Amino acid sequence: MLKILWEKFINWILGISKTPVEDPYVPEVKEELPVTENVEKPTMEEKEVSLQITENLLVKGSTNRRGDAMRDLRGIVLHWVGAVNQTSLQTRNFIANRTDFGSYNYLINHDGEIMRLIPENEVAWHVGTSQPDPVSKLIYTPRAREIIGDQVANAKTANWHTIGIGMNHKTWNEFTPETLNSCISLCADICRRTGLDPSRISNHWEMVGWKRCPEFWAKDPAQFEFFKDQVRKAIGV
Ligand SMILES: [Zn+2]
Repeated sequence: MLKILWEKFINWILGISKTPVEDPYVPEVKEELPVTENVEKPTMEEKEVSLQITENLLVKGSTNRRGDAMRDLRGIVLHWVGAVNQTSLQTRNFIANRTDFGSYNYLINHDGEIMRLIPENEVAWHVGTSQPDPVSKLIYTPRAREIIGDQVANAKTANWHTIGIGMNHKTWNEFTPETLNSCISLCADICRRTGLDPSRISNHWEMVGWKRCPEFWAKDPAQFEFFKDQVRKAIGV
């Protein structure tokens, strides 16, 4: 018994000590979540995912996997996790233990491993906002509104219509090529299965205009355009 407790304690120490003390992870969503009675049935078809994916689902009914049904899929939103050199498992456990909102459907590790935290037909809290875009003064940018529509933007229910992918990063400057390649494959796979056009792939910064996530794509949008071109190539469109 003592041995088990000791091992648990050591694992806890090891797990925690790898996370920066001053956690730079800024919560993705701060506002109150809209009430979701009369949730619409998802119209997205559930088809077999052909990629190799590690299942490490959050507990259904927990804060960050409330179990809300996804509505019609309008886009994919990419993120960095906002903490350097953190593995998917560490990010997953951070999300599982947090008491505020912030989660993704998928996480991608530095070595390219794809981990599923929330099934695609359930909502993740990754792109909620009540803060206006400083340029357009709108809640959700004009670009976001092209993707999710004005109605969804005004109702602030973008999370109910977009799959969120969080990418871990070793530095503040870039994703590893393995992470990017897996993200390209995952986005291509989602587009193929759901019929979503790659032009509907976006990133957090592009969607809300005030959160520089990922910072290097906010600074250099051409890098993100290149990413989307790679997805198009992968799909063959
Ligand atoms: Zn983000």
